[in-house]
Amino acid sequence: MARLELEEIRKSYGALEVLHGISVAAEDGEFLALVGPSGCGKSTLLRTIAGLEAITSGDIRIEGLRVNDLAPRDRDIAMVFQNYALYPHMTVESNMGFALRLAGLAKDEIGKRVASAAEILDLTRYLDRKPVALSGGQRQRVAMGRAIVRAPKIFLFDEPLSNLDAKLRVQMRGEIRELQQRLATTTVYVTHDQVEAMTMADKIVVMNGGKVEQVGHPLDLYRKPANIFVATFIGSPQ
Ligand code: ADP
Ligand code: MG
Repeated sequence: MARLELEEIRKSYGALEVLHGISVAAEDGEFLALVGPSGCGKSTLLRTIAGLEAITSGDIRIEGLRVNDLAPRDRDIAMVFQNYALYPHMTVESNMGFALRLAGLAKDEIGKRVASAAEILDLTRYLDRKPVALSGGQRQRVAMGRAIVRAPKIFLFDEPLSNLDAKLRVQMRGEIRELQQRLATTTVYVTHDQVEAMTMADKIVVMNGGKVEQVGHPLDLYRKPANIFVATFIGSPQ
């Protein structure tokens, strides 16, 4: 059974349909990259998985359980956004523990989970700092820390590196992938950067205009693109 299954997902905003029947599955521990040009529906699809947007039709299943009608907090999913959305007035420690406090976890348990995530992310020395006193890479790690402490079944990333400079972006690719493999958490990672997708993903989903053009392992897409669009987007030799 797949960890995450999307079956014929459709989503409309008013009269405008932006997802035209998306079917994709991710296995346990798999890292899926969702790529495609700006406006093709990547963020919308991610938000429907998280439960932040209702779908018009189709099914979303996590470990076989239909979650269409579950609130975001009941889906066991953690999402990392492009702009991190850290709370500026809170310390790193409070930022990382915030969702756990909301969920009503005991203080001891929160402390343990935050300490463990900080250790993994090399943030232990920065727990008392405010976000403004951190580098871009450290802020990105805090954003990941907030996801990790929840020990979710699925990680969702929406272009998490697009605000970082080129050098840091390359470094963080490696860090995110390493972390994901260590935790073995099924991940859907949205990017419009095909190099990022090629270097990080177990499987790539190429989207265009609210549809899936092709799903495959990075090298398969590169060697056997299904059509001109995929070939051009992935940069295969023609
Ligand atoms: P991507 O993340 O691939 O750049 P989006 O998922 O953000 O694409 O957007 C897909 C399409 O849906 C775009 O045409 C966008 O204008 C439209 N869209 C996104 N959010 C809304 C919204 N809240 N209301 C109306 N249209 C939206
Ligand atoms: Mg987007």
